[in-house]
Amino acid sequence: MFLERMTWKQAGEFLKKDPVCIIPIGSTEQHGPQCALGTDFLVPRNLAERLEKMMSDEIVIVPTIPYGVCEYHMSFPGTINIGLDGLQLVLGRVASAMMSHGIKRFVVLNGHGGNTPAIQKVSLDVYHAGGIMASVDWWSLVGQLDEHFRAGGHGDRIETSAMLAVCPEAVDLSLCMPMNPGRPTEEISAKYIQVISFHGGTVGLTRDTKELAPSGWFGPYDPKDATAEEGEDMLNIAANYVKDFIPEFRKMLP
Ligand SMILES: [Zn+2]
Repeated sequence: MFLERMTWKQAGEFLKKDPVCIIPIGSTEQHGPQCALGTDFLVPRNLAERLEKMMSDEIVIVPTIPYGVCEYHMSFPGTINIGLDGLQLVLGRVASAMMSHGIKRFVVLNGHGGNTPAIQKVSLDVYHAGGIMASVDWWSLVGQLDEHFRAGGHGDRIETSAMLAVCPEAVDLSLCMPMNPGRPTEEISAKYIQVISFHGGTVGLTRDTKELAPSGWFGPYDPKDATAEEGEDMLNIAANYVKDFIPEFRKMLP
């Protein structure tokens, strides 16, 4: 059930059933020239909607957190970064409020890799308060479950396909640009947005995304090949996985 569609009395009754609390979380940030800034929260929000159709009596879905940790995308217009401290505060307060209403178990549906340190910190706080918080990075999960989606990047075909399935009006494939990665020196090349490659090894180098990915996207799969069918496949894989995980997850805490 969606918390936002319940009255306080309905919420009070429903929360007595001890549902697992689903927290969709993302970021408002650039996703290359072809995908809208809402990509990272629209996809987890859609996953939550799929779960709601499959198991509405067992879960309570709180409103999606649309902001995250994305300081490194700030040179791209429209990006909104609330920072590690901001996300930790917001997610932590959402979790502690729901715990005060009786929730013990949380599953975060995460759409943005930069959010991970904040989610991990809040998960520890929830743990120390007697609860348990799991998190799922949907793009990483689908890559583990199906090799066609392995090791996707940022704003590449994987995310673009997901967006074509979730919100096609927020994608324009005619705007796709080549990745054209930056080349810092003759012997150093771009491995990922914040990773460089040198003599067969990789080195982390955190800077603004524009330094290595001037068009905003980076990854092994060109977004111009994205399709809504592929997005639908991935989202079904992820939703079915979480649906199976939740009953097992319940067993971890009496
Ligand atoms: Zn993304």
